[in-house]
Amino acid sequence: MIDASTPMPASTCPLCAIGKHTILHRISDWDIRCCKDCGFAFIDPYPAPATRPDFYSESAIVERKEKKRRGPLKRLAAFARHWLRKLSGRTKGTLFLRELTRRVPEGSTVLDIGCGAGAFLSTARHRYHCTGIEISAHLAEHARALDVEVLVGDFCSYPFGERRFDVVAMVSLLEHLHDPRLALRQCHALLNPGGMLLLKTVNHGGLNRRLMGARWSGYRPPDHLVYFEPDNLAATLRELGFRDVRIHAPLFNDSFYCYAMR
Ligand SMILES: [Zn+2]
Repeated sequence: MIDASTPMPASTCPLCAIGKHTILHRISDWDIRCCKDCGFAFIDPYPAPATRPDFYSESAIVERKEKKRRGPLKRLAAFARHWLRKLSGRTKGTLFLRELTRRVPEGSTVLDIGCGAGAFLSTARHRYHCTGIEISAHLAEHARALDVEVLVGDFCSYPFGERRFDVVAMVSLLEHLHDPRLALRQCHALLNPGGMLLLKTVNHGGLNRRLMGARWSGYRPPDHLVYFEPDNLAATLRELGFRDVRIHAPLFNDSFYCYAMR
């Protein structure tokens, strides 16, 4: 898969290793490249993995948050999103929780990978035994205030030992990862047999991206490194041994949801 210590290979797709990729857009200092065969997209050049912990430091997070709100239009959009969510009673974890409640017995163990400040854990913890893992010590500290176990580190190299979970959740994380195939393999390894993966990531195959082109809000280099679409994610998961892969891709949503069983 992607070796982030070296420049991107000249022509072959890092996901399917078959298709040739071409430049779709140029955004700031990055090219958005897309495989002609499987549709997988990624930024070029790839930032070095060693820079990622700094990227999630407290000051960098605060700076990005403020940048997002700069300008009257962006502030208005953030305000509208906040109130729409509030009025509809939907929080970031609501959709997943509905799915979990239907399919996973109360009291099961849940690992939320990239739990951030605990948006998903805050709703799931009332029904499940929740653990979070987060690369940013600053965000992990916030999540701990929810009185759940929060580990700090990279989940691909964290010493979990024999520990396994009934549910592994990855909400809006996959697009930030250097090596998504390695990450998905680790999700499979961390699940109990019969366990369930819940995943949400930006939808590069969605209508919004096709309409907006280079102005699509999902393009956020170098924060977002890789861009899946439902078909190539489902194929990758099956290849890694997941079964019963289901995709939910709301038409005007920038992201899609995926459920898969070990
Ligand atoms: Zn490909």
